[in-house]
Amino acid sequence: MGRKILLDKINVPGIKTYEVYRREGGYASVEKALKKMTPDEVVEEVKTSGLRGRGGAGFPAGMKWSFIDKKSGNPRHLVCNADESEPGTFKDRYLMEYIPHLLIEGMITSSYALGANLSYIYIRGEYMWVYKILERAIAEAKAAGFLGKNILGSGYDLELFVQIGGGAYICGEETALIESLEGKRGNPRLKPPFPAVKGLWQNPTVVNNVETIAAVPWIINNSGADYAGIGIGRSTGTKLISASGNIKNQGVYEIELGVSVYEFMNSDEYCGGMQTDRPLKALVPGGSSVPILPANLIYKTAAGEDRLMTYESLSDGGFATGSMLGSGGFIVYDDRACIVRNTWNFSRFYHHESCGQCTPCREGTGWLEKVLHRIENGHGREEDIELLWSIQSKIEGNTICPLGDAASWPVAAAIRHFKDEFEYHIRFPEKVRNRDHFVNEP
Ligand code: NAD
Ligand code: SF4
Repeated sequence: MGRKILLDKINVPGIKTYEVYRREGGYASVEKALKKMTPDEVVEEVKTSGLRGRGGAGFPAGMKWSFIDKKSGNPRHLVCNADESEPGTFKDRYLMEYIPHLLIEGMITSSYALGANLSYIYIRGEYMWVYKILERAIAEAKAAGFLGKNILGSGYDLELFVQIGGGAYICGEETALIESLEGKRGNPRLKPPFPAVKGLWQNPTVVNNVETIAAVPWIINNSGADYAGIGIGRSTGTKLISASGNIKNQGVYEIELGVSVYEFMNSDEYCGGMQTDRPLKALVPGGSSVPILPANLIYKTAAGEDRLMTYESLSDGGFATGSMLGSGGFIVYDDRACIVRNTWNFSRFYHHESCGQCTPCREGTGWLEKVLHRIENGHGREEDIELLWSIQSKIEGNTICPLGDAASWPVAAAIRHFKDEFEYHIRFPEKVRNRDHFVNEP
C-alpha cells in the first residue's frame, strides 16, 4: 500500500465534523505552529519539504511563500485556489467534500506563516454543496477558537471567508481569480508583478491550490525533512490523482510521487487496468492542458526509461516543457477513442473559456476549434493539418496567461502522435461522416 498523508483518515466515520476531526488529531499543526514556532520557522519547514504547487504548475510552495514582502507593512493574504476546473480533474472537490477541516487547518497554519490576517478560499460556483460544507467547517473551527481574534491565546488573529466563483475556467488563473475576488471581471493580469508582490488589493498575496495547503499540517506535525523523504528527486511527497476514462476503477487516489505509470494504471490499489480487454490507446496524464501520450510512450519515455508519476517524467518529448503531471487529471483512452474528436472537444472548451484579452488566444482558439470541427465532421481540407500546426504555434508563448499554451499543446501533441488519424479523416470523409471509424462512444 502506498503512503497516505492526505486521505489517511478519509474513511473515519464523521471525519467531516470538527468533533471527529479533532479527536483524530486534527488542528495539531495550528497548536504547534502558533505555540511553538515563529512564522519564519513554518516557512522554513515548508521550504525544506520541497512541496510543489499541486494546482498544476509545480512551483515550490516554500519559495513562493518566501517571496512575500513582510517588510512593507501592507496587509498580506493567503488565497486558496479551489476553482478546480481543469477537464479531468476532481481531486480538490473530493478533499474538500470529505475532509474539509484538513483544508481549514492548512489555511490557518499557512496564514500564520505568511502573517496574513484575512484569507480566502475561492471555490468554483458549480461546487455549491462543497461551499456549504466549507462554511459549516469554518463555523465549527471558529466556535472552537481556531479562527477569529487571539487564536489559542497566541495574539494571532485570522478571518477566513469562502467566495464562490461564477463558473469561468479562467478564474482559476491566479490573477484572474484575484480580479474576480476584488469584484471585477476575471481577466488575468500581466505578470510580473507576481501576486506575492502585488496581489489582492495590491497587497502581497500567496495563491495556493487546495491540495498544496492541505499538505501543510502533515509537514508541520512531522517535519519538512520527513516530507522530503517521501517521493523521488524534486517530486517530493504524495499527490492526489483524479483517474477517469476506460479504466476499471475511476476515482481519486493518493499516490507517493515516483510510482510508475504502469503500476498506477494496472495495480488493483489504483486504476486496476483497462475496463475491458480493449487495448490502451492514449493517456492524458495531467488534465486537458498537458500533451497526450500515445500507447508506445505511456509506460516508457522515448529514451526507454520507465515513466514515473512525477513532475519531470511525463513530457511527451515535444517542445512543451514544465510540469506534465499538471493538475493530476489522468484520462485513459482505449482504442475506441477518436483523437480528432477529443482534440476538437478540448479546443471547443478553451475557445469558450478564453477571456478574449489577447488576440492570439481569442482568435486562435476559435480558429483551432473551427478547423478541428470541420475535420471531425468529414469536411477537412488537404492543408488543414498544416494550418492547425501553424495556428497553435502562433498561440504558444504569445499570450498573457497560460490558457493560450494550454489550448495549443493538446493540438500540437495530437498532430505529433496521431497525424495518421487526422489524415484518415481528411482522406475518407464519407467514413468519418458515417462514423464508420474511431468513435468515442462504444
Ligand atoms: P505559473 O508557472 O505561471 O505560476 C506558478 C506559480 O508560481 C504562480 O503562483 C506564480 O505566481 C508563481 N511564480 C512563478 N514565478 C514567480 C516569481 N518569479 N516570483 C513570484 N512568484 C512566481 O503557472 P500557473 O498559471 O499558476 O499554472 C499553470 C498550470 O495550472 C498549468 O500547468 C495547468 O496544469 C494548471 N491548471 C490547473 C487547473 C485546475 O483546475 N487545477 C486549471 C487550469 C490550469
Ligand atoms: Fe485571456 Fe487567453 Fe489571453 Fe489568457 S491567454 S489572458 S485567457 S485571452
